[in-house]
Order: sequence, then C-alpha cells, then structure tokens
Amino acid sequence: MATEELSPQNRIKIVVDRGLCIGSGDCVDTAPNVFELDAEDKARVIDPDGDPTDLVVDAAMNCPVTAVFVEGEEGPIYP
Ligand code: SF4
Repeated sequence: MATEELSPQNRIKIVVDRGLCIGSGDCVDTAPNVFELDAEDKARVIDPDGDPTDLVVDAAMNCPVTAVFVEGEEGPIYP
C-alpha cells in the first residue's frame, strides 16, 4: 500500500465495509472521534486520527461482524 494513503498522525488507513456493517454502534462507542453512524445507520470514518491507534484497533475488534479493517505501515493490523 502506498504510504501516502495513511493518515498523517496515526499512520493508518481505516476501511468500513458498509455491506457488512449492521449499525451496532460498537465502533462509535469505542472510538467516538474516529467513527460515526450516518443517516443509513452505517458506520463511517470521520477522522482516522481522532483517537489513538489502540482505540481504533479496539473498535475494529469490537465490531460484531468484523466490518472494520485497519492497515498500518507494515500492512494489515486488524483483522
Ligand atoms: S461496530 Fe461494526 S457493525 Fe457496528 S457500527 Fe461499527 S462497523 Fe458497523
């Protein structure tokens, strides 16, 4: 992956698979400055640097349907 795709601070890229997302809100509860639920009750990323990387990874791990994908400079972080 090209490093310029990574966020300036956390140096990560976050992708939410909207087809998988069931709108449970766990990611928003875990990292509220990174994720929000949109009008369709699907999670979207508002700021990949809004919370520390640890919290972003926790949020991805808390997703019941594994719809949150986190990549870093070394490749996939989770899942
Ligand atoms: S935790 Fe997963 S299913 Fe729940 S809102 Fe976030 S991305 Fe969607």
